[in-house]
Amino acid sequence: MIIPIFDPGAQLAPIRPAIDAAIKRVLDSGQFIMGAEVKAFEEEMAAWLGVKHAVGVASGTDALHLALLACGIQPGDEVITTPFTFFATVEAIIHCGAKPVFVDINPVTCNMDNHLIQAVITPKTKAILPVHLYGHSCDMGGIMDIAGEHDLKVIEDCAQALGARYMDAPVGGIGDAGCLSFFPSKNLGAYGDGGMVVTNNQETADKVNALRKHGSFRTYYHDTTGFNSRLDALQAAILRVKLRRLPEWISKRQKIASMYNAALHSLEGLITLPPLTDGHAWNYYTIRLNHLNRDALRMFLTDRGIQTAVYYPLSLHLQQAMKEFGYQPGAFPIAEQTQLEVLSLPMYPELTEDQIHSITEAIKGFIKVANV
Ligand SMILES: *Cc1c(COP(=O)(O)O)cnc(C)c1O
Repeated sequence: MIIPIFDPGAQLAPIRPAIDAAIKRVLDSGQFIMGAEVKAFEEEMAAWLGVKHAVGVASGTDALHLALLACGIQPGDEVITTPFTFFATVEAIIHCGAKPVFVDINPVTCNMDNHLIQAVITPKTKAILPVHLYGHSCDMGGIMDIAGEHDLKVIEDCAQALGARYMDAPVGGIGDAGCLSFFPSKNLGAYGDGGMVVTNNQETADKVNALRKHGSFRTYYHDTTGFNSRLDALQAAILRVKLRRLPEWISKRQKIASMYNAALHSLEGLITLPPLTDGHAWNYYTIRLNHLNRDALRMFLTDRGIQTAVYYPLSLHLQQAMKEFGYQPGAFPIAEQTQLEVLSLPMYPELTEDQIHSITEAIKGFIKVANV
């Protein structure tokens, strides 16, 4: 029996009638681009996050790109971010003609280390782009303080963190803009691509709204050059059904994380467990162990039908596509160490106690035979 890294089928089964009804509603309406479903989903998401505006776009990548543009990021600007994230984060910066400027990460949270931000600020710095990796909020208090002092914009990458909280505030509404992804494996997954920009700023919302439809505020009148980046009506209708289940799904993820930690507690020292922080939305449950053991454990689990993943095996400053920026190996030692050590275990709300038991027993079995 296979235990997948995430299981869309298990999630669909109980909501299938509501999903089918939503799809039928869109087909019957004949409205596939923008329209009532997109508007309703935007309003529901804004209300759920407690933000003033939500603008649906084609993907999380586009959400980042359009949010950066709407916040005024231009060619020659610098944007401070983490090297330990999905590539889309820096792609969005590069597509604005700006330069991604990295700071190393905190080894416990794997999020950008706020203490390092001040030192890389230059007159060209225009924004900070924190990524709430794995579903764990960055230290937003510190980031907002630095941004305030230096008059920088803050664009939050919430692709892995929808439903996460910093203190009592939902991530996404803390900075100038928050960027959501509805890629199927995220906390709120569509049946295709989708994304959203959330903001409390009317002007930013208006700009993203124009950029997603060819730079036009009024049909066939174009104020700037924009993009075709709209959220599908079908995906919006599907996501409306799923959004109602999201609070319950996130509390299940939190429960699963504590079950994992309880079951693996005895291995601490050999394995580093993720801290059970309040407000963590647990898109991924990620343990750490030394390099040789990480790869051996991964193979051991694969052989037993347990899927795992490495998010991410190569820090972004070392990627071929980043060559032009001239970053060298050793520039961000904690990120480079972390890429060798992280291993994400199956994590989805439908994961059963039996499955968690099989996974944690398999890990204990590996530790016994691996002689670590
Ligand atoms: C998934 C992801 C994105 C991109 O989202 P898409 O919807 O796939 O374009 C951006 N940043 C992070 C951190 C992600 O995990």
